[in-house]
Amino acid sequence: MSSEVEKNNTPRSSHPDDELKQLEEDYQKLLDDSQSLINERSYLETEMRTLKKRVTRLDDEVRLLKTPPLIIGHLQDVLDERTAIVRSSNGTVFQVSLNQRLDPERLKPGTRVALNQDTLAVIEVLHEAWDPMVSGAEMIGKPDVSYDSVAGLDEQIETIREAIELPLLEPELFAEIGITPPKGILLVGPPGCGKTLLAKAVAHQTNATFIRMVGSELAQKYIGEGGRMVRELFSLAKEKSPSIIFLDEIDAIGAKRLDGSTSGDREVQRTLMQLLAELDGFDALEGVKIIAATNRPDILDDALLRPGRFDRIVTIPLPDAAGRKDILSLHISAMSTARINLKTIVEKTEGYSGAELKATSVEAGMIAIRDKRNKITQADLLLAIERIQIKKLTSGVTSSPDALYS
Ligand code: ATP
Repeated sequence: MSSEVEKNNTPRSSHPDDELKQLEEDYQKLLDDSQSLINERSYLETEMRTLKKRVTRLDDEVRLLKTPPLIIGHLQDVLDERTAIVRSSNGTVFQVSLNQRLDPERLKPGTRVALNQDTLAVIEVLHEAWDPMVSGAEMIGKPDVSYDSVAGLDEQIETIREAIELPLLEPELFAEIGITPPKGILLVGPPGCGKTLLAKAVAHQTNATFIRMVGSELAQKYIGEGGRMVRELFSLAKEKSPSIIFLDEIDAIGAKRLDGSTSGDREVQRTLMQLLAELDGFDALEGVKIIAATNRPDILDDALLRPGRFDRIVTIPLPDAAGRKDILSLHISAMSTARINLKTIVEKTEGYSGAELKATSVEAGMIAIRDKRNKITQADLLLAIERIQIKKLTSGVTSSPDALYS
């Protein structure tokens, strides 16, 4: 009732034009709001897709970890469609059953097969020769990443140039003076701070072939395969020399040896022994260098760090303020920006890795694009920082300033 009175008593002082203007403004505001909600929705959808992929990957990893390792053998004879005679890798001969799913055409005497560790049933036919390229190694003739693409790591670049670049480019200097250069170095630091980037830059600088293998790929499920893969990785590197083997996540095969371990652990240890044997077996001036990387130096087996193996350790920490400034400048300089106060951005990104700083600049770019602007503003960067912060918290991949690296 009272509102009725109020309504009736309100003098209609405003002009129809003003009202129209007001309505248009309201309409525009609603349009903007709906656009930003649409943006928000598409952002969340992308986010959900990424997280789903992550879940699937982690599920796969768990399944792999739960599967017992398989034994390798050679078929000697196929008795009938269900049974065969195999010789296992340790020389024992067994009569075993055949998985019905396998193509009988491929089951010829001499074929390499994988056997279940408990039942010894043949469950897979294996390739005769292990091809590093098929099994997850990545090879690049000469990476297109130069030292200019690595920001804030001048000291580390200096050490790596001395330990890896100089012996590859001028081995005669070392031979003349009579000192042995390091065979490899170990890069230690949290994820996303430029370890891979640095290794690629050295390969670029030395015109070397870059061969990347991830430790967890070498920690194979087949008994006897991990060692064989390490051997073939090194022979591929020698064939392609000058070359750099980048052994990422070395902790997956290089963890301290423990007693009372499972057969899976023993298999990983055999792979490590092979790696040590390969490291000892090649000449430091042969044109092959190894760069290993880990974010868990605390669990590495001491044997890896003995002289003549990974005798130089280079720490790649989370970037400090100066490092963040360099990394942000590098990534932002390639973009079109309005006036930006980099100092504030640097202050607000404490604890961000190089990869997260890059993600922040890309996100700021995306915000500008969604708003149909052709320049990134300070506000875009601030919003991007918030979004990456949320991602860091929800995905659990924060590279927190761990005591180890700071
Ligand atoms: P991981 O341990 O996860 O393999 P990493 O330390 O090898 O991480 P990189 O793969 O080298 O990290 O970095 C990922 C991306 O982050 C790089 O491609 C680059 O765009 C950016 N980045 C990281 N660190 C730097 C840096 N110091 N300078 C410039 N860009 C960087």
